[in-house]
Amino acid sequence: MDWLMGKSKAKPNGKKPAAEEKKMYLEPEYTKSRITDVGFKELVVLPREIDLNEWLASNTTTFFHHVNLQYSTISEFCTGEACQTMAVCNTQYYWYDERGKKVKCTAPQYVDFVMSSVQKLVTDEDVFPTKYGREFPSSFESLVKKICKYLFHVLAHIYWSHFKETLALELHGHLNTLYVHFILFAREFNLLDSKDTAVMDDLTEVLCSGGGRGGGGGEGAGGGGAGAQNHGKER
Ligand SMILES: [Zn+2]
Repeated sequence: MDWLMGKSKAKPNGKKPAAEEKKMYLEPEYTKSRITDVGFKELVVLPREIDLNEWLASNTTTFFHHVNLQYSTISEFCTGEACQTMAVCNTQYYWYDERGKKVKCTAPQYVDFVMSSVQKLVTDEDVFPTKYGREFPSSFESLVKKICKYLFHVLAHIYWSHFKETLALELHGHLNTLYVHFILFAREFNLLDSKDTAVMDDLTEVLCSGGGRGGGGGEGAGGGGAGAQNHGKER
């Protein structure tokens, strides 16, 4: 009788993710959830004594690891059957190989391309130098932007297609926290194109405007405390 009650869910192999019916990740009870009340807006600012490229490099590497980890929690659900394309909202992403050729791929394949190419970059001493005296390449900033764009696609895919599973694992506080930190960092250094992030503007607005902070979600390890936050202005 479920179909009569309007409760029927999208089939596991259905083309449209459940999120398309209703964006569950926008529900206030979930957007409130964080694992920390830290004010990321202050945290992302370049510290006075640190070189800009060093700051971009260490943060980008950290975001890469965190996005990878967050994705790994739902990767068993992100299969070629469940996620036949790398789609977010009405946008479909294609991978472009090293020669710029468009590659049609499933979401897990796309994420795999992202993760392995970013891994290659952040461990390349010529691109992300770690040794004293090594210079950053002139293309460094554009590479960081590229990495951020890819990491954004992965985060958007987790929200769009795997939020239910993230909720079931009680990891939405982690996901929200990572998203806020990442977006505020990218915004601070102009690393993401607004055209690319438009698909998630509604979520970004809620999570990053200061209205959706705190609230005592308490999900996840840290158990984000209650209370208003010093999270000042928007954009
Ligand atoms: Zn997926």
